[in-house]
Amino acid sequence: MEGGLDQTVERCASMLLLEDLNQIKAGRKLLEAVRHSPDLSNDDFSRVAQEVAAFQGGAVMSRFLSFVTPASVSRLYLPGADSQLEGLKRFLHATPALCHLTGSKIVVDRFLRDDTGTIQKVRAENVHIQLMNQVTQVVDVSERMKSSMFNPLEIMTFLASLECLSNFARASKTFRDVMKEPTEQRKTFEQFSDLRSSKNLAKMTAGSSLRLRLGLACLAASFAFAEDSQLWAIDSGLLKLLAAIYEASPLRELCKRNQRGGSPVYRCNKILYRLLTLEATTEKARAHNALEGFRPHRRKMNAAEPELALWRDYFGPRLQGTRVVEKEELSELQSAENWKHAEEVYSAMFQTPVVCSWKLCAAGREPVLGKGFSMCARCHVARYCSKEHQKSHWPSHKVHCRKMP
Ligand SMILES: [Zn+2]
Ligand SMILES: [Zn+2]
Repeated sequence: MEGGLDQTVERCASMLLLEDLNQIKAGRKLLEAVRHSPDLSNDDFSRVAQEVAAFQGGAVMSRFLSFVTPASVSRLYLPGADSQLEGLKRFLHATPALCHLTGSKIVVDRFLRDDTGTIQKVRAENVHIQLMNQVTQVVDVSERMKSSMFNPLEIMTFLASLECLSNFARASKTFRDVMKEPTEQRKTFEQFSDLRSSKNLAKMTAGSSLRLRLGLACLAASFAFAEDSQLWAIDSGLLKLLAAIYEASPLRELCKRNQRGGSPVYRCNKILYRLLTLEATTEKARAHNALEGFRPHRRKMNAAEPELALWRDYFGPRLQGTRVVEKEELSELQSAENWKHAEEVYSAMFQTPVVCSWKLCAAGREPVLGKGFSMCARCHVARYCSKEHQKSHWPSHKVHCRKMP
């Protein structure tokens, strides 16, 4: 990446702040280029995302927020809407950029806090309404039009919205609470199971279908791994969503051994395993007759990790209430530290770890347990592994850093 990380942050954030749709698009493409560049590491991408969130005291985050004011949300997709439509269009184009950035929980946190550092629930509500509209709108339109294939922009916005939902839900309890609020509609996760089984979505390309199932698995993980949400999620149709993902995932996806870790079935196994290691959630799953719901998918569960025989030795017995087979590989995962790590891996589509903001730091990601990195006391966004690195970062960071009381 020419010009180094500091210039990348400047260029990217400046483009995302412009009015012109093409500039917003270019900003999004630059983020993608950083994320997928063979010359840069995952940590470098995290650093860029964190600093874009700090940029001019959170200006980029405020910009995204202006796209989802209640006015623009209520006028969503109404024909003949006035200038609000411009805001909506920008949000559509900005969603993929938001989806890249919000993979970092620091960015989500900055997004939901106002300048006094207080979490604003209304921000979470507006983002939630907007993203859900985008997800369901694509399906509704295609049902009406009976179109044979989605256009690429629709697919991109749809998948990005889904990823954004799971990023926000993973990083923020406030956002999960908003999603948990009762609606007149059907249970939260049943709506998403419908997405998967919809005939029209079956016409997606193989790559989009895989991304959709991964996105749904990430959303499920955001709730299944959060202790405040597990029981609610099961009552809201989470197990049906998992069953729908198993159902829609072809066995052949699991054949290539080196790709198993990235398969939706593998991720669903981890979610189910997490839920069934706990007594309260296992009880709840039994009450929802999960044994019958999952039995048809046992071959896929086993195929994702043949060495573990998860259905035979663990899922089946747990759901039946009989003794499980003790296995070292499984008990290893049960330590708190390993779960913390597993959560980070399986709940993010592409993990964006929290890292020290200094570009030459080699400390890697923030430790999952124990004392984390310290944060910049002014902006509450930048993170540091040490005083020295905070000092080294200051000359470039001070341009963006603004005080939060
Ligand atoms: Zn700062
Ligand atoms: Zn450092």
